[in-house]
Formats: sequence, structure tokens, C-alpha cells
Amino acid sequence: MPKDRSELPPVEELLTAAVTGLGGVERPGQVKMAQAVGDAIESEEHLAVQAGTGTGKSLAYLVPAIRHAAESGDAVVVSTATIALQRQLVDRDLPRLADALESLLPHRPEFAILKGRRNYLCRHKMAAGMPEDEDDQLFDPREVSATGRMVQRIQDWANETETGDRDEIVPGVSDQAWRQFSVTARECLGAQRCPSGADCFAELARERAGEADVVVTNHALLAIDAMEDFAVLPEHDVVVVDEAHELVDRVTSVVTGELSESTVSLAVRRAGRLIEQGVADRLQEAGEDLRALLAVAPPGRVDTLPQSLGMTLALVRDAAFACITALGPRNKDKDDPENAGLRKAAFTALDEVHDTAQRMLDAFGPAAGGDGAGDDEDMDSPGSQDSARSRDSARSRDSASSGGANGGGTDARSEEVHRAEVVWLEEGRGRIPPTLRVAPLSVGGMLRDKLFGDRTVVLTSATLALGGTFDSLSRQWGLRAGEWTGLDVGSPFDHPRRGILYVATHLPQPGRDGLPEAYVDEIAELIEAAGGRTLGLFSSMRAAKAATEALRERLDVPLLCQGDDSTSQLVKQFAGDPATCLFGTLSLWQGVDVPGPSLTLVIIDRIPFPRPDDPLASARQRHVAATGGNGFMAVAATHAALLLAQGAGRLLRSMDDRGVVAVLDPRLATARYSGFLLNSLPPFWRTTDPAKVREALRRLTADA
Ligand code: SF4
Repeated sequence: MPKDRSELPPVEELLTAAVTGLGGVERPGQVKMAQAVGDAIESEEHLAVQAGTGTGKSLAYLVPAIRHAAESGDAVVVSTATIALQRQLVDRDLPRLADALESLLPHRPEFAILKGRRNYLCRHKMAAGMPEDEDDQLFDPREVSATGRMVQRIQDWANETETGDRDEIVPGVSDQAWRQFSVTARECLGAQRCPSGADCFAELARERAGEADVVVTNHALLAIDAMEDFAVLPEHDVVVVDEAHELVDRVTSVVTGELSESTVSLAVRRAGRLIEQGVADRLQEAGEDLRALLAVAPPGRVDTLPQSLGMTLALVRDAAFACITALGPRNKDKDDPENAGLRKAAFTALDEVHDTAQRMLDAFGPAAGGDGAGDDEDMDSPGSQDSARSRDSARSRDSASSGGANGGGTDARSEEVHRAEVVWLEEGRGRIPPTLRVAPLSVGGMLRDKLFGDRTVVLTSATLALGGTFDSLSRQWGLRAGEWTGLDVGSPFDHPRRGILYVATHLPQPGRDGLPEAYVDEIAELIEAAGGRTLGLFSSMRAAKAATEALRERLDVPLLCQGDDSTSQLVKQFAGDPATCLFGTLSLWQGVDVPGPSLTLVIIDRIPFPRPDDPLASARQRHVAATGGNGFMAVAATHAALLLAQGAGRLLRSMDDRGVVAVLDPRLATARYSGFLLNSLPPFWRTTDPAKVREALRRLTADA
């Protein structure tokens, strides 16, 4: 064991020891990637690495990461998008890697997992028995209800747990039940002030992370650490972002604000116990106005601010501000922790309501944000083009006169260029009321400043090079040419020999009216040729269900559809019986890992463009177009390419796998953008001949 950091073996030697220790074989792509990650860390240059399935990319970044931690004494943060990968790293890869490398390093590599504060049991909230946040009418823990039973299970588990980590509770519990025992980072009193601070589970997890060489976390916490004023991750100068194709979506979720009757009611309940009734009632009334307005408003993007909405948002904002003022100074009860907890919870909910209402008003420009005055239009009556133009002109004049960002611009294009955030209304579902959301059009600038600014970042995934280059994703990350290096280490799979990409050019283009009959016939013929063994990836749940219903009558193979059971159970059944087929939508596009003959055919019904009514995607597309770019290619085609590559990536999961990816949408071969999409897919052998592909499937089935 080297005593001195300067005696550390090079990355290549450590990788060989790791691969040998884990009983694997060294692969050229893995060696290349490990060297590149080591070099990037050394030269402090950001690196994006595409590494196909089977490369062994976890080891390729963990080995140089561990070496750097041993050399520098600082932790390396590894961020993933899914719990499955976090578990794989912490439960499988890292313990075995620590065993394999221990003798070559100054100390045995230590690792820890760190999640957001709300994932840990809050001892203070539990001990103080703080009043429920939930609406009494909706939730009564005394009732023998599913939630009541979950609450009881959490209380029993709380007496035994050593980590306080919610994921330990099996089966899992609902968010509603868990909220009774957890706090967000903003609601936490802080370990110094909290009576339970010394035993706090979240603090203990942070302490363990502070001593680790590798800290495994998720993209959401990474984003919070980078964006917020307070540090949640231990000091680090290197971050590895695995599943990096998910980074932008996860960061966008973190910075998306929401406002609804529920968020306002929560703030009223929390503040109502601490302030004069009349002040809290004002916020309650503003929340009711908001509820009434949103109940009749059409869901979708809010392009121009209707006067009614502008006034209501201003009402909500001002009423929340009055409650905040009524609560008094923020640190007034330092010596009364119980009351401090209640006040902190109230401040957090009120701040959220106030800041989100203001942010939504700001999204429409300074005129809207100032006095709550909006456009002279009812929310559910779309205005004519002329009135829209006059509104745009009016806002531009306002902006110009107040020195606003719109300057002298007078048209919608100018407004689009300067717009930074988009607001949209989401329909209510079940107990979830209609909700207004606000999100940035781009998180690139934020990532550039906050994440890439002062640390070395390695981004990796099996799908980063879209249309053959890293440009699309690097733009979304906010990285400029010269600030990063891209590397594609390829895949150990022999794609042209092991897989076929079949595009059904004889089929009609997919329409808006559900799954065409010809598609159902094509799917039936392909599945018959494959003898089952099919993963059907549909662009909507409606299409997946329609195909399942139609084909259950026609085929005599078991057909599972997402939603019949939990997705993990369905995937288990699918993997266990080769004749079984599984149909579903988004989570199956990325989450299925079934090596072997159970998965021989992947069917994709249509190119997965974002839905035309997707508010964020359509606003982003329009924004790119307004700034002179190609909005369709930068947003819709990029989104589709990423999902297609992920979907096609379900086919080959081990060196022995063989099969077919069948895309029914003929546009993949015929449209002007098809080259970009095809270049994003693995280099399978291609055909458009249905007879050839059915013959190949029959041969594969006979060989299996
Ligand atoms: S420090 Fe924060 S999270 Fe920990 S027990 Fe106290 S209030 Fe809860």
C-alpha cells in the first residue's frame, strides 16, 4: 500500500486491478474512457463521453475518480438520474472496487450515498408532533385508511432505523404519509438550532459523505447544491454526471415553480396558527380566487397574461407578503425551537407562494410584474391577432419606457427573444387541482455559471452524440466551443451483425386519430414472426393500450401492458418468459434492461417528438426560432433523437444478444430530418423490406 500520494499507481494500472478483482475483461472502450476521465481531471477540462452499453463505464469513471480523491483528499461527486443506478453503484460496484483497489491506495476507498433532506426522517418533526400539513378533510390519520396505516408503519420503522432513509421502508409509503415526518432543506431549523440536531439523520448522512472519497447523489441534489446559497454536498472539485442525457430535464424540474389552490392553502394553514386571523383570511380568499380562475381556464401555455390572472397573481403575492410581515422577524424565537419549527415551516410555504407568484408575473415582463395589471383579455377567450399585436406593442412601450429588457422591440419576435421563462397551466387530476407552473426556457446559462463554473465536470451516458455530434446536448448544458472535449468510445457490440433496424416505409404516416389499423396488422405479423419476445415502445399510453386491446384478441402470446402491475413486476414477468410481450410508454423507453432471448424485437410506433401541446418544448422551440436558430431541430428533433436512441438501446444488452428494432413510422426513412435521427441510432444493418425482417425474426426464434 503506497504511503504517499505521489506514489499512486496510474489510472491504467488501477483499472487493470479493478477489472481483475471484479472478474471481468478489459475492453478497449473502457480503457480509453478511463484515460480520458483521468486526463480531464488532471487538466481541469470538462469532458463528455458517450460509452455504449457494455463498455463498463461505471468502472471507467470510478477508478480515476477514486484515484483523484486519494491524491487530493477531496471527495468526488457522482450524480445519477435513477435510483437503480445509485443502488448499483453503492450496493455492487463500489464495495467490490474498494476491495480490489485497497492494497494499491493509501487507504481503503470510502463511499457514501447522499440524498435531499426530505428523504430522511426528521427527528425534530417526529418528536415535536408538529400539526399536520395535510388538509383535515382530505387526510385523517386516525382513520383506518391506507395513509393511516402507512403513518403507523413509518412510526414503527422510526424506532429501529439507523439511517432514517425513506428508501429503507419496504413496501414504500406515499408522499402524503412521508411528509408528516420529513422537512425540506428550507424548512429545516439547522443543526445548530434544532434540539435533535446532534442525532439528525440528514446531518449524519452529510457527515458520512464528508468523510467519503466518492459521494453518490442524484441530479436534483447536484442542481440544488450548485444553485442554492447553502452547500448540501461536501467540498468537491470534480463531478461525474452519469445518465447525463437526463441532466437538463432534472435540473428544469428542480427550478420549476408551481402555484395552485393547494400550495396557497398549505401556506394559509401553516401561517394561520401564528398570525392574526384576518391576515391569513386574505390569503385564503386570494387562493379561492385563484382556484375559481384556474378551474375554468384552458390548460396549456399562457403566452400573454390575461388581466384576470395578472390581478389574481398580484393579489396572492401581496396577501402572502402581508402574512410574511405579520410573522415578524425571521429569527425572533431562537430559544424556542418548537415555535421556531412552526414559524420556519410557515415562512417556507409563504415565501414559496410569494416568490412563485412574482416570478410568474415577471415572466410576462416588468409591466406585468409591477402592479399586477395584465393584458385586457379574458383567460379563456383567445384574442385576435390584431389585439395580440397591440398587446405586444403596449408591453414593448412599457418595457422601453421603464428601461425594460425589450428595449425598442415592438413585435412578438422581439418579445420571444427576451423571454426567459414560460408559464403554463396543468389540468387537475383526481385530488390534484389545476396548477400553474413556471420554468426557464433554458437552464444552460444556469448550468454554465453554477455547475461548470468552478469544478471539473465529466458527463457520460450511452446516448450523448445526437445526429453524430455532441453539439445539441452541449448547447443545452450551456457549454461553448473550447470549454469542453467530446469523446465517443463506441460500443463493444457488433451492431451491424447483431441487430437490424427496420423502417416500415410501406405504412402510412401516423395520424392524430390513434393507432392506424395498418400499424396493428404490422405489429401482429412481427410478433408472430418473433414468437413473442417483443418490447413495444409507444409514444402515448393511449396507443399502447389500443395496441394491447386489439392484439390480445388476435395473438396467442401473453401480452402485458404498462399499468397492469408495477413496472418492475411487469419487466420481471417479461424477462422470465420469452413468449411474453410488454407494451408501454416513456418509462420503458429508458428503464428496461433485459439481456437474452426474451427481448428479440423492439417495436417503436412513431418518432417520439414532444407533443405539440407540450408547453415547455413548444415555447423553447419558438424561442430558438425567434433567435435565428432552427427551433424544430434544436428542440423537437433533439428530443426525438434522444428517446429513439434510448429506445433502440433496449435491444442489445449483452454480447450474445441479437434482434430487430422495428420503427413503424415511415418518416424515419423519408423525412428531411431523418438523417439526423438515423445518425443518432446505433449502426444496425438497415432494411425497409417487411418480408426480410420477418424471415430474420423467424430464424432468430428458431435459433433461440
Ligand atoms: S436538523 Fe433539520 S432535519 Fe434534522 S432533525 Fe432538526 S429540523 Fe429535522
